[in-house]
Amino acid sequence: MVQRLLEPGEIETLDHTAIPRLLLPEARSLFTARAARLRQLANNQIKGIPVGETLAGYLNMMAALVDAQATAIRSLPADTFAMPDAATIQLAIDHHMPPLPVSGQRPAMWRRVFDAILDQLDALAAGQPQLAAVLAELRALDTAQLEGCADAVLAELTEGVHPLHAPFVAAAIQVMWTMRASQLDGRSVQPLVTNTLCPVCGAHPVASVIRIGGQSQGYRYLQCSCCSSEWHMVRVKCSCCEGTAKVAYQSIDQELEAENKANDPSKVARAETCDECHTYRKIFNQEHDFYVDPLADDLASLALDLLVGEAGYARASGNPLLWFNAE
Ligand SMILES: [Zn+2]
Ligand SMILES: [Zn+2]
Repeated sequence: MVQRLLEPGEIETLDHTAIPRLLLPEARSLFTARAARLRQLANNQIKGIPVGETLAGYLNMMAALVDAQATAIRSLPADTFAMPDAATIQLAIDHHMPPLPVSGQRPAMWRRVFDAILDQLDALAAGQPQLAAVLAELRALDTAQLEGCADAVLAELTEGVHPLHAPFVAAAIQVMWTMRASQLDGRSVQPLVTNTLCPVCGAHPVASVIRIGGQSQGYRYLQCSCCSSEWHMVRVKCSCCEGTAKVAYQSIDQELEAENKANDPSKVARAETCDECHTYRKIFNQEHDFYVDPLADDLASLALDLLVGEAGYARASGNPLLWFNAE
């Protein structure tokens, strides 16, 4: 009898029950933690993700937007985030479709979230004319324009949405989907045919994260850019084409490498590049920084985007809080 050696990916897939396949978001704490992380990043307090002054200003602005997301969750009535009926959810799951699809018709309630977020930012805008102008422009959009803007944001189109408007629209959609995802029964959700899209809503991941703790110890998850769910994907695999042959890693500053391997700042943020599809996504490692937040850390590590961009790799998909195609 010939015994074949197992590849690392195969070892992980041997026992499907041992790995939590899907981590649904804790919507109430997620945005509060993210705002705090953005401020730490803006203050240049995170070893491994150095932040310059210009970017710091943007990160602080986005921290205020994420605060507004958290407040919207606390202040809006629960029925804002009503779920589709059980039969609709089951039908989608039976057909290996996402139960809360982000494509197609959106629940109109997301616009209530949008209004709440804008209202939250008024106090801050009183001292910031540029922000006040953006809020005024956003409020001037009629329903059709706003829905068109949401379509463009979700499709990552540069046409049809002003780059400064996009993060505010994306933030409202994100709250709507994250709150609903948190109400799902995770055990019932099935993987999609492609593992590169979110099994809950069908959106692209914003980045990868290697989790620690409990049953998720050492496993890699992709975090959804829209509903914040995290789904498992084996390590050393391209999150765009699922190829495994030509995956490599790049850090912002290789010289950061610490002697203490358990807390190595050069490994907090890396780009996972693929020479089969020539794209990359970032991967953040909780083993080296407990408080990593895939979305916030992705936003703050623009230096890494420049580095791998110069090396010829294209970003696999965007960050909802930054219009990457915009200057
Ligand atoms: Zn999702
Ligand atoms: Zn690839």
